[in-house]
This record gives sequence, structure tokens and C-alpha cells, in this order.
Amino acid sequence: MNRNHERLHRDEKDLRSLAMTELQNIYAGLGLTREELDLLSLPRRSFTVSFPVKMTSGRTQMYTGYRVQHNDARGPAKGGIRFHHELDEEHATELALLMALKCAVVNIPFGGAKGGVAVNPLELSRIDLENVTRGYIRAIADHIGPFKDIPAPDVYTDEQIMAWILDEYERIKREHVPAVVTGKPPELGGIAVRRYSTALGGVHVLEQALKERGMAGSGLRVAVQGFGNVGEHTARILHERGYRVVAVSDVNGGIQDPAGLDIPAVRKHRDAAGSVAGYAGARAITNAGLLAAECDVLIPAALSNQVDKSNAREVKATVVLEMANAPLTAEADEILFHRDVTVIPDILANAGGVVVSYFEWSQNLSNDTWPEDKVLARLALTMAAAYADVLALCSNGRCRMRQAAYELAVKRILQAERLRGNL
Ligand code: NAD
Repeated sequence: MNRNHERLHRDEKDLRSLAMTELQNIYAGLGLTREELDLLSLPRRSFTVSFPVKMTSGRTQMYTGYRVQHNDARGPAKGGIRFHHELDEEHATELALLMALKCAVVNIPFGGAKGGVAVNPLELSRIDLENVTRGYIRAIADHIGPFKDIPAPDVYTDEQIMAWILDEYERIKREHVPAVVTGKPPELGGIAVRRYSTALGGVHVLEQALKERGMAGSGLRVAVQGFGNVGEHTARILHERGYRVVAVSDVNGGIQDPAGLDIPAVRKHRDAAGSVAGYAGARAITNAGLLAAECDVLIPAALSNQVDKSNAREVKATVVLEMANAPLTAEADEILFHRDVTVIPDILANAGGVVVSYFEWSQNLSNDTWPEDKVLARLALTMAAAYADVLALCSNGRCRMRQAAYELAVKRILQAERLRGNL
């Protein structure tokens, strides 16, 4: 498990305000009624549970867990489970709302949820971690299910934890229910593509945006901040497609080569050395330098608030693909907009993971195993459709894609509520 998740969780706490500000602007811009606002603002269900775990030390420890189902008008609630000692109900609620919006943007039939346990998993032995997972699932089992709420991995949870969730849920129900959770190991009904689907989904929307701007794909220069799950796969896929990845970085530093880095070799170096920094055959670059690197496409895939009003004018890229959550501050967004930089917003750019989760759920429900080319083709179609839908809302003048994406999501959720007779 990755210690960087510690940063991600804290970081997301800061970014909530940005997403919420965006949402407030959208609400105001759309002229929503009080009823519509209330309906969008309040979570439908929110559970706080306390449960005992018999630890390997012999002690019994009480843990607190949460699960928030924000909106499920468009389908069962969907969202990650995170294990983090600072998790609380408020944070889970806001992340659940963002999941509802993300699922609506890519038009998959899910609402939004989030939850987890207030625990530091790094302090737990494997067996204690398993027992905490099982205890949490026993506590919320009545509230999840393939047609109610479908968990997935998030900060500090992984395929193994999803496998324990599946097993515990099936023990309780005394039947097989693979569609209760996604992000499972492929041996238990998961989809291998899920491991890089966030990155691939981002590449799909990037290529649509490049086409829109009349920029040819092959040979374009790309800089990627972050070389974790999302950043590494994004760099790899773009490298394989003939882009020149001219700079990459991680928490320990960055490297650059204007001729293009050999990404498989960088990955090998990272696996051995623990960081991309120090890779022979490239020059060192700071993270600040990477954000200002000479390139056509900038891909922040690490933390939020990386580009702000202090460095937004230094960005050389024509297109910014937000693979991390909220890597740009609102001021940076504004500056880049006036500099005619296309910003593909996080809510669209990093939705590929939940799209493939939807395929996993579908394949589990029909007791089927989709061939990989079907998964890949449908991911491409879904992302292309979402991109086109967002763009269609930018009818007059230049597009603020972030605003259009939020607007699209809000409209889709409200339409589902209207059809149900709730408005
Ligand atoms: P990760 O922990 O696997 O990787 C994060 C990377 O960022 C690491 O390489 C780390 O070294 C690097 N990093 C940390 N601090 C940095 C700094 N100051 N400068 C440069 N690099 C730094 O995380 P991930 O799963 O790749 O997620 C990255 C971002 O994408 C997060 O914002 C996350 O919320 C978002 N995201 C991820 C997914 C997913 O499927 N994994 C889905 C949606 C959104």
C-alpha cells in the first residue's frame, strides 16, 4: 500500500471546497429552484456504524465506519471505500456527491456513494486489516448490494480488500453475489483493464480534445506530474501511441528529455530505485519545472492545487488533462481559460475507472466474462460520448469544459428525479 495516499486524503480535503464552489456557481447559473437545490445537496442515506474487532493482540477494538449514498436517482449508488484515520461523515458525503456527478457525466446508470473506516491501515497487521474489513462489511451489509450500493477501492484499499468484502458479504447472504463490489481481482470476477482504466479513459478524452484543436497526435510533447497508478499508465499509454513524453515526476523529483523519455525504461528504474529521479539518460527537473515545461499537453496526475495563480502563466501547454482531482485552483482555471488553454476537467478526465467498474458490475450480473477488446471498445465509446455531450453544452463561444461537465451532470440527475416524480 502506498504512503502517498496519506497525502491524497489530506489533499482531497482541501479540494472539496473547489468542487463545492464550482457546484455553487453551477447551481446559481442554472437558476435552480429551492427544491432542486435541496434535492441535490442532501444525501439520501448516511450511515455511521461502530463495530468491534477482536485484534490479534487479544484486545477488542471498536472502529467507526461510514457509508453515504448521496443520490441514487439514476441507479444504485456507487463509490469507493477508503481506510483513513481522518475519514469522517462530512468528507464521505462530499466525495459521495462528486461520485454522483462523475457517474452522471459519463452517463452510466449509477448514483454516488463513498465510505470507509476511520483507521490507519499502515498500523495494522494483514490479519487485523482483514478483520476490520469484515467487521465493517458486517455492519453495513444491509445497506449495500448490487442493486443498492456497490463499493470499490479508494485511498488505502485495494483488490485484496475488495476480495474480502465480497467473501464477507457472500457469507452473510449465503449465496454468490459478485456484483456487490467492483475492483475485485480478475479471478473473482474483476476486470484486468480496471488497473489502468482511469489512465486509458483520460487518454481517450485527451485525443478528442486534441482533434478538436486540430493538433496531430503523434509526436506531441507531453509532461506528466506523478508516476503512480494514474500517471505511470497515462505516460505508458501515450508513449505507446507515439507521443513524446518529455518529462515525468514523482514525490522525489522529476526527469526530462526533450527528445522523449523511454517510459518502459523509466518504469524499470523506478521499480528498482523507488523513484523516477536519478534515471540515467535524462536531466533532472523539479516539480515546479515540470509544470512549466515546454510541452503541448500537461497532465497533472498527483495532487490537487498544483497549478495556482502563482504559476498558471508559466504553463506552456495548450491542453491540460486533469487526471488528479482538482490539480488546478479556480484562479489558475481562469488564467488558463483567458490564455486559450483547453482544460479537460477531472470529473470527465479521470472517470474511466468508474466506467470500467460499471462494465465489471454488468458482466457479474449476467454471469459473463467480457473479452478484453469489448471492455476497451466500450470504454472508448463511453468516454467519446461523454466528451461530445460536454462539448455540446459549450454551444456559444469558447468552452469552459469544467462548467459544462458539472452542468451536464446536474441536469441528468435532476431529469431522473423529475421522471421519478420527485420534482
Ligand atoms: P498514487 O498514489 O498511485 O500515485 C501518486 C503519484 O504522485 C506518485 O507517483 C507520487 O510519488 C506522486 N506525487 C506525490 N506528491 C507529489 C508531488 N508533490 N509532486 C509530484 N508528484 C507527486 O495515486 P493515483 O491512484 O495515481 O492517483 C493520483 C491522482 O488521481 C489522485 O488525485 C487521485 O485522487 C486521482 N484519481 C485516481 C483514480 C484511480 O483510479 N487511481 C481515479 C480517479 C482519480
